[in-house]
Amino acid sequence: MIEINGKTKITGLYGYPVEHTLSPAMHNSAFKSLGLNYCYIPFTVHPDLLEDAVKAIRALNLCGVNVTVPHKVKVINLLDEIDEEASFIGAVNTIVNTGGRLKGYNTDGRGFIQSLLENKILFEGKNILIIGAGGASRAISYYLIQKAKKIFLYNRSKEKAETLIQDLKKIRNNISLNLDISSIERFDVIINATTLGLKEEDPLPFDTSLLRKGQTVCDLIYKKTRLLEEASKKGCVNLNGMGMLLWQGIFAFELWTGQKPDIEVMRNALK
Ligand code: NAP
Repeated sequence: MIEINGKTKITGLYGYPVEHTLSPAMHNSAFKSLGLNYCYIPFTVHPDLLEDAVKAIRALNLCGVNVTVPHKVKVINLLDEIDEEASFIGAVNTIVNTGGRLKGYNTDGRGFIQSLLENKILFEGKNILIIGAGGASRAISYYLIQKAKKIFLYNRSKEKAETLIQDLKKIRNNISLNLDISSIERFDVIINATTLGLKEEDPLPFDTSLLRKGQTVCDLIYKKTRLLEEASKKGCVNLNGMGMLLWQGIFAFELWTGQKPDIEVMRNALK
């Protein structure tokens, strides 16, 4: 356990619910290993009380917090400043309190890219299919579009995909809308950024019999989803969202403390 005293700096997580979170284990282990007098606490923040909770960051002089479902978008209007990446994504997952001034960041996209890099998954010059157009899709596509040969985007709600495509075209014009998920064999990398794998029945987003060896399949969910199991059977490289979770946490840690955490300590805490 971290020893709390009068000088302890408080960070934490605002979400609803937060009972499932792995972040306290990850951050508290990292604070402890560096001997930093910080602690990370999960806060159950009801959506009706988000504004009060944000005011409390200043009132209680919290160092900063992570923000998760369902507050990532709504919190934007309650902050003093938003960095460029979070502003494009339209969602904040990390708040830093500097003398009462609250700045919002989004470390999810960078976290995903770092997870690809450390797993030696190539994405530069590749044809990438992204399924989903929610916050996580926006976060990763902001980076992927800058390096991919081409991004193909599919989403159940077409209008949402079209809006994201219009936004991404301001960065680079190498993206197009997919109206269905067929011809899977065309893509080098396939990324599921939907919540499908969180459902009990864990439905597949497309016909996985079309996958071929040599393709890479990613799911942003922390566990090995049915999609990843099927991809693995087909000989595809596969990656779940655990690395993304780790690295988004590392970047948040650096924003709060100005220090580099021990990555293996955080990884082991997640395991
Ligand atoms: P979100 O903003 O709510 O977006 C959800 C997406 O899933 C939308 O594109 C939605 O399509 C799609 N979807 C939901 N149910 C569907 C269904 N039955 N069939 C087809 N599409 C469906 O959520 P998010 O924040 O982007 O999160 C997406 C996933 O990423 C979640 O599973 C989350 O756990 C994961 N994630 C992981 C990390 C990490 O650190 N590893 C970080 C952030 C998020 P519509 O637009 O049509 O509704």
